[in-house]
Amino acid sequence: MRPWGSVDKTEVLARLAADDADPVFQTIVQPRGEFKARMISAVVGPGIILQIGETLEEADDYLEIFRRLFSILIIILIIVSVFIGWYLARRAVVDMEAVTLTAEEISNGSYDRRVKVTGQLKEIEKLSTTFNKMLDRIQILLRSMKEINDNIAHDLRSPLARIRGIAEMTLVSEKPVEEYRDMAVSTMEECDSLIDMINTMLDITEAEAGVNGAADEKFDLAALINEACELFRPVADEKRIKLDCHFPATLLFRGVRKKMQRVVTNLLENALKYTPEQGTVGISASVRNGEVVIVFKDNGIGISEKDLPHIFGRFYRCDRSRSQSGVGLGLSLAKAFAESMRGMILVTSSIDKGSTFTLKFAQ
Ligand code: ADP
Repeated sequence: MRPWGSVDKTEVLARLAADDADPVFQTIVQPRGEFKARMISAVVGPGIILQIGETLEEADDYLEIFRRLFSILIIILIIVSVFIGWYLARRAVVDMEAVTLTAEEISNGSYDRRVKVTGQLKEIEKLSTTFNKMLDRIQILLRSMKEINDNIAHDLRSPLARIRGIAEMTLVSEKPVEEYRDMAVSTMEECDSLIDMINTMLDITEAEAGVNGAADEKFDLAALINEACELFRPVADEKRIKLDCHFPATLLFRGVRKKMQRVVTNLLENALKYTPEQGTVGISASVRNGEVVIVFKDNGIGISEKDLPHIFGRFYRCDRSRSQSGVGLGLSLAKAFAESMRGMILVTSSIDKGSTFTLKFAQ
C-alpha cells in the first residue's frame, strides 16, 4: 500500500456541512502527482467523519494501454485508407481513360467500337453500359438515316430522270402543240408526286418528334369512316371488290380529325390496292374495353413473315407489291399519326390469305 500523504479536508468539510450529511464523492490527486484516487467522505457520528478511498492507479494503467493501442490502430487505419483511396482513384482513372479512348476512336469514325464492361468500379461499369447503349442507338439511327438517304436518292432519281427526259424531248424534236401540252402535264404530275413525297416525309418527322401537333378535338369517327368508305367505293367497284363497312351510328372520338382522315385513308387504300379483283375488304369500328378499335381486313396478297417487321419503316415496300403504285411511306405515316394520338397499330397477315390492320386508341 502506498502512502496517500495528507489530504486537504477544508473542501470536504464545507460540502458535508452544506449537503446535510449526504456522503461526498471526490477524485483527488495524490500530492506528489503520481496517481489519482476516488474518495468518499461521510459524517458517521457527532464530530466523526469517515473517509474511505481507492486508488485509480490500475485503471490509469489500463487507460494508458488502450491509448497506445488506439494510436497504433489509427495510424494503421490512416495508412490503409490512403492506400485504398489511391487504388480506387487509380482504377477510376484507368477505367475513365478506357471510356475516353473509345470516345476518341468513335469520333474518328469507328462507330462499332464499344467500351469493355468487366471488372470495373460499379459506377464506371454503369457509365460504360449506358455509353455502349447510347452507341448502339446512334449506330441504329445512322444506319436507318443512311437507308432513308439511299431510298430518297433512289425515289427522287426516277421522277427527276423522267422530268429531264420530257424536257430533253421538247428540245430535240419538233412536235405539235398538243403533244407539248401533254408533256407539260406529265412534268407537273411528276413534280406533284415529288412534292407529295417530301411533304409526307416532313409530316412523319413532325409527328414522330411531337412538334406542331394540332390540338385534340372531339368529332364523330363513324361519320369520318363513312366518308372514307364512300370515297373509295368507286375504286372497290372498279375492281369488283366487296367493301363491307361496319360502324355504330355515332362514335365520338378525341383526336386530330385531319390526322385520323389520313390514317384511315392510307389503310383502306392499301387494303384495296393489295387485294386482287373480286376480293373482300372490310372496315369496322367499335369501342372495346374503353378503347376505340378500327379493323381493316382484306383477303388480298398478304405479307410474308420476313417482311412484316419492316413494313412500317420509311420507303419499305415488299417485293410482291412493286407492280403497284406507291413509295412506301403510307404505313410509316399511319403509324406516326396513330401514335401521336395515343394510339397503336397492329398487323397480322399471311401470304395469299390476306392482312388485318388494327388501330387501337385509348380515349
Ligand atoms: P406503299 O406506298 O408501297 O403502299 P405503305 O407504306 O403503305 O407503302 O406499305 C408498305 C408496304 O407494305 C407495301 O409496299 C406493301 O408491300 C405492304 N402492305 C401494306 N398494306 C398491305 C396490305 N393490306 N396487304 C398486303 N401488303 C400490304
